[in-house]
Amino acid sequence: MSNSTYQIRVFGDPVLKQRAKDVTDIDGALVGVVNTMVETMYDASGVGLAAPQVGVQKRLFTYDVGDGPEVVFNPEVAETEGEWTYEEGCLSIPGFHFEIVRPKLVTITGLDIDGNEVTIQGDELLGRVFLHELDHLDGVLMLERLDPETRKQAMIALRDADLDAAARERLDDIRRL
Ligand code: ZN
Repeated sequence: MSNSTYQIRVFGDPVLKQRAKDVTDIDGALVGVVNTMVETMYDASGVGLAAPQVGVQKRLFTYDVGDGPEVVFNPEVAETEGEWTYEEGCLSIPGFHFEIVRPKLVTITGLDIDGNEVTIQGDELLGRVFLHELDHLDGVLMLERLDPETRKQAMIALRDADLDAAARERLDDIRRL
């Protein structure tokens, strides 16, 4: 029953601040990466996981908001609409969650696992996952979506936080992306 998983990189790891590169070839090795990412996401009770969070510098993310695992390669935002506030958590910043305003309805384009072009629309949580994971692909953490004062306080708290312990505990029911 035990499948292999990746170690999730946490705040402070330089890989989280780098822009990931376009996927040029969806080969067997990359499909293997996707499968391990899905296992890693489930193992951590996450609803979304971007490749840089497991140290893979490629533009892809996996997600499952309750309809089964999905993957998108080279995602781009096509359209956004509205506004939605949500208590957002991140697998790479365990123990922290913040109310963040983002668009409510998000349409992305990208490639599916067969290399076909796809257009996917996400409302509320799914739209949130899309934007959060796209940020990861650009080396942006949710901390950068906070207002300056909240961000300042978060950085102070993060300095003293034991993120590895927080990752093990998972005491709250915040959905992490
Ligand atoms: Zn995240």
